[in-house]
Amino acid sequence: MKRVSVELWRFTAVCINGHEFCFHRFSDFHYGDLTIRTANQSELALVETDDPVFNEVGSIIDELLVAAWGNKNRSDWCFDQVFPIVCDPAPSGLRYSFAEEVRCPVCNSTHLVRYGPGEPPQVDTVELPVVTYNAWQQLSYEEKRGRLRDALRKAGCLP
Ligand SMILES: [Zn+2]
Repeated sequence: MKRVSVELWRFTAVCINGHEFCFHRFSDFHYGDLTIRTANQSELALVETDDPVFNEVGSIIDELLVAAWGNKNRSDWCFDQVFPIVCDPAPSGLRYSFAEEVRCPVCNSTHLVRYGPGEPPQVDTVELPVVTYNAWQQLSYEEKRGRLRDALRKAGCLP
């Protein structure tokens, strides 16, 4: 997997059981590439928004939404729900998701009593693997459309 260095904010969190830990995310002012996580949180990866796959998936989703609803009002939310099916699994074999909540690495709780960046925010340079789409790219355009349509239905984005 290709790896790139990105600057991320270091967040500090405390879980319901009092464990303090850090995690990284883009600053509130960041535009462009996205981070995506696996369920165990230890694997953060980068989604490059200038990748042709990212743009192709976006336009297929928009087209399917417009065909069904006459608009693409929920496009961003629906994109986040279904984009992970396009990604190859993480090195651990787990799937990526945009929806994964931050999880305490000690007790696995997602119940955080507080979290946030420092004041001022601490910026760390973090090397992240870049998400790949090898399996997806083997599919024909019709297969891609079909899989996205199914995933959008499952997510409640299409009737
Ligand atoms: Zn904990």
